[in-house]
Amino acid sequence: MKISILVFGSDNFLATLPDQIRDTTAFSVEVITNLSQAVSRIQITPPDILIVQASLDDSMELCCWLKEQTKLSWIYCILLEDRPQLLVDKSKYGWEWELEMTSIALRQGADAYIWHETLHATSLQEEKTDFTSAELTASQRLLLAQLTVGLRKAQKYRDLIRTNDLLSAIALADSLTELSNRRALEWDLPRQIQKARTNGTPLSLIILDVDYFKKVNDSYGHLVGDRLLQLLSNRLRHNLRYQDTPFRYGGEEFVILLGNTTCDEAFVVARRLNRLVGEQAFTINSQLSINVTISLGTACLRTEDDANGISLLHRADQNLLQAKAAGRNRVMGCENYFSQSTSHLRVASS
Ligand code: GH3
Ligand code: MG
Ligand code: MG
Repeated sequence: MKISILVFGSDNFLATLPDQIRDTTAFSVEVITNLSQAVSRIQITPPDILIVQASLDDSMELCCWLKEQTKLSWIYCILLEDRPQLLVDKSKYGWEWELEMTSIALRQGADAYIWHETLHATSLQEEKTDFTSAELTASQRLLLAQLTVGLRKAQKYRDLIRTNDLLSAIALADSLTELSNRRALEWDLPRQIQKARTNGTPLSLIILDVDYFKKVNDSYGHLVGDRLLQLLSNRLRHNLRYQDTPFRYGGEEFVILLGNTTCDEAFVVARRLNRLVGEQAFTINSQLSINVTISLGTACLRTEDDANGISLLHRADQNLLQAKAAGRNRVMGCENYFSQSTSHLRVASS
């Protein structure tokens, strides 16, 4: 991927930068002179490096704003000092004054502060623009060196983001079923509760558990049991609306979060899933199909429920236990509705 540089400065200013920066085969360079345009560009497509022309209005505002943005402050911001009066003062006041100016710029948000002696630089560019050329001015060499630092930082940041995304995906997914795992539920449930309360919408939850699953393992071995859990997960996933999220809660136990869903609606969904699982066998291979049933408990969010969803989960779990106790292969919900009451494992092999 191409390194992107955003130049907050005039076209004339861009023309004073070393050719290497304007080399469009190595970088994608965009020039913006307006603060609000620069801000929205950075928010929508963050560049790797920001080069700021100090003499442009709002240059310091942009540097300050950038460093206040938690998610964007990694962007390397190079402030090029081209204000004519300051360039004059520099030769008058000496190096301590220069250091003080640098400290101010860094404190205000720049990652690097470079004196930009444009006249000299422009005349040299016409002669030679090699990346390591000794004919570049010291400030141009410093700018290119700072660019290298910025590129290194951008590369590291991108690697970090990639690794982070991968680790998050691993941490929140169940490797057997590819459903979200219990950790993902613990992360998602409080957010769904908050969202439901803010929007004044209902939220429901289903817990389901495979009936007599141990018998499947005992009869056919754990590999077949694993395959059945995968097939069951797929069946659940493909029979839910996009806003309903299934999670593998534990061994052969699943939770489904139903956004914007009332108690009654959740009960209807649970009954549908109950039938979907129980009425069609799972084909493990050409010789083996297995029938299993599930028991389900539903619950919906109440005003008195805690923000983490512990009491909501507990209520659904109590209903699941009742469904088990009442004979399995049924749904038990808030109103203690019953579905059909045939239970026990049926195994069909051919
Ligand atoms: P119940 O109707 O009361 O739920 O009976 P059950 O046999 O399903 O319940 P029990 O809790 O006694 O057994 C659950 C079994 O699920 C035991 C465990 O070995 C099995 N199990 C849990 N996780 C996995 C898994 O990832 N793969 C396989 N193959 N089996 C698993
Ligand atoms: Mg079970
Ligand atoms: Mg269980």
